[in-house]
Amino acid sequence: MEYVLKGSKWHVCIELKDNGAYIKEGVFGNINIIQSELFTVSLKDITSNEKYSMPSSLGWDSIKLEMYEKRLSLIFYSCCITVKVNAISDDLGISWTADIENRSDALSVMGMTYPTPYMQAEHFDFFAPVSSGMVVPNAGNNPDFDKIINQPSYVYPSGVMSMQYFAVYRDNLGIYIGFHDEYANSKEFEIKHEEEKIKVDSFFHGIGASLAANSFKLAGYSRWQMLFGDWYDASMIYASFVRKKACWIPKIDENGRLDTAMRYKDIPFWINDYIPNSPLQGDNKPMSLSSVKDTADKDNWINTPIKLKNELGTPIAYHVYNWHEIPFNINYPHFIPAKDEYIKGSAKLRNNGIYVIPYINAISWEMLDGEDGYTVNFENTGIHSAVIDENGEIYYVKYPQKKMKNGSPSMLAPICPSKTWEDIIYDVSEQIALTTSSDGIYFDQIAAHGAHPCFAKDHAHLPGGGNYWVSGYNKMMSRIRADKPADAYHFTECHAEPYMKSFDGYLTWTWVRDCQVPAFPAVYLGYIGMIGRMLDGTKKDDIMYFRHQIAQSFLYGQQLGWCKSDALYNEKKIEYLKIIVPIRYRYACLFRAATLCRPPKVTTSKKPVIASPALWYKKNITLEQVLAGAFRYADGHSTVLFLLNISETESDFFLEFDKAEYKIKKMPSDFKVKENIATISGKLGPLEIRIWEL
Ligand SMILES: [Zn+2]
Repeated sequence: MEYVLKGSKWHVCIELKDNGAYIKEGVFGNINIIQSELFTVSLKDITSNEKYSMPSSLGWDSIKLEMYEKRLSLIFYSCCITVKVNAISDDLGISWTADIENRSDALSVMGMTYPTPYMQAEHFDFFAPVSSGMVVPNAGNNPDFDKIINQPSYVYPSGVMSMQYFAVYRDNLGIYIGFHDEYANSKEFEIKHEEEKIKVDSFFHGIGASLAANSFKLAGYSRWQMLFGDWYDASMIYASFVRKKACWIPKIDENGRLDTAMRYKDIPFWINDYIPNSPLQGDNKPMSLSSVKDTADKDNWINTPIKLKNELGTPIAYHVYNWHEIPFNINYPHFIPAKDEYIKGSAKLRNNGIYVIPYINAISWEMLDGEDGYTVNFENTGIHSAVIDENGEIYYVKYPQKKMKNGSPSMLAPICPSKTWEDIIYDVSEQIALTTSSDGIYFDQIAAHGAHPCFAKDHAHLPGGGNYWVSGYNKMMSRIRADKPADAYHFTECHAEPYMKSFDGYLTWTWVRDCQVPAFPAVYLGYIGMIGRMLDGTKKDDIMYFRHQIAQSFLYGQQLGWCKSDALYNEKKIEYLKIIVPIRYRYACLFRAATLCRPPKVTTSKKPVIASPALWYKKNITLEQVLAGAFRYADGHSTVLFLLNISETESDFFLEFDKAEYKIKKMPSDFKVKENIATISGKLGPLEIRIWEL
């Protein structure tokens, strides 16, 4: 028996057969929906630990169906499990909710997938909220798909999967798939692709997973919606949901965040470095920052930044590592006391107008700290809050740094939010404010670390999924934030969305991949500062990479930089920084809360440069030599277009955009306009940045 849900440009057919139900076929614009399960339940026998799946199409005793004009309700019954799925349709799409009841003393529901479509088309583009947002062109036939997307499954929320929506489209017509969960419960997104086909499974980790008779509702709803446009239009659908509903949205006005001091919102450029190691720190260093040999000058970390600031002539902020006496990644969280060099050096830097913000790790406890004589240590305290995996083992990550005493590797255990941990990080934060001269704190890993389920039996949360990780870390940060010095700046690693209210900024250092689009800024510019990109490491000497990352981050509304101040001594780097950083500063009031418009189309006869990948990624990066972007002032008084030539020679360009979409009333005479499409062509000088305020 078939049931059809439909709107004017889409339909989905559900078939009921042999006490099961599945999605039979359908269409959303240019994208076909092909046969797949409606959901899959993952179960575990808690005595034998055996796991098995129950798909929607098989294994049920009976199904009850109720269908009204716009609503389909399906109830799946087995001896001890009942699943209810509701679909409410409108002209644009379907909203699906689901819940599961488990009456078994022997079984636990480990999780369940939201209804998602299995899609097919001869040619389509695929958007995923990975990095700043990524679009895989011709995704159904792209041999580089796995290199571009890099890994098939991701934990949400995490620094790699920061938002909850996807899009599949061809010729600006397709489908938006969103998971509208305003409390950011833990999920696993798995991207499955094959020739001409794609599916994103969204697995909701069961609340009370590993306990018998656990019942729960899948948080929020999954939304399938007609997409008229591309990744940008999909981002606007998601933006409309989060801005209305999400618990993490901070208050903003036309100058951006109300709770961030203006001077930090306007920072155009960030640097980083670490204070040279003391003998007690051995060779342990932050790996991503130590790409070149340390200079012999022990005050270089103070003097070069001051020279750089004077050369740029704008404010700069400085992310400082290794300010503590403990070695990097060793004996965390015992960050206090600070080195004397830091106390004196940061005061000097601040006297020279540089904002100085020290690093701490706010998630991890180093497991062998007891060996070094700390009375409160992992073995007697941290262990009680450590994340426990499904097998009952402590979850930890091995790092390359070594313990000084016996050379054993650093093992950092992520700590599940708890009062103990909250007190420790609160105290560290307070001591930094009281005993050092600093402008804030960087809390490593909070918006980077995946909200993996924790199965500890003695924690103050049910085992498995839920949003205790997000709400726990936000609770910790809200206490720290409430008592911080009024103008202190707090930022964290990466950009998982649900921690936004807790921080002034996100360190967007990993936005260095091929096929990126500015989806995260399109949704969140103005709601959170976005700081810099990885510019050193293996890519330190690649000047085109440097210019491209700086130029693209400018067009993503990010604050620029996050490199060492030794960029000052590289003629080409400093040449470019002296052009672009003052412009970023001049337009700070725009970037505080602008709308990032759909990027204008720009073409040039100059071929892109292909660069080797950065960080741990596998795909070469295509560096366009002419880049364009557009932003609209928050108060709507004008739209600003930027066109950047990053090559050292003159470049031709052809620029095209929809003037109505940009809300521009009157175009200057050098633009041609035909049915709202404005175009202009011409030449850009070497490294030129051309700006139109319209
Ligand atoms: Zn826990």
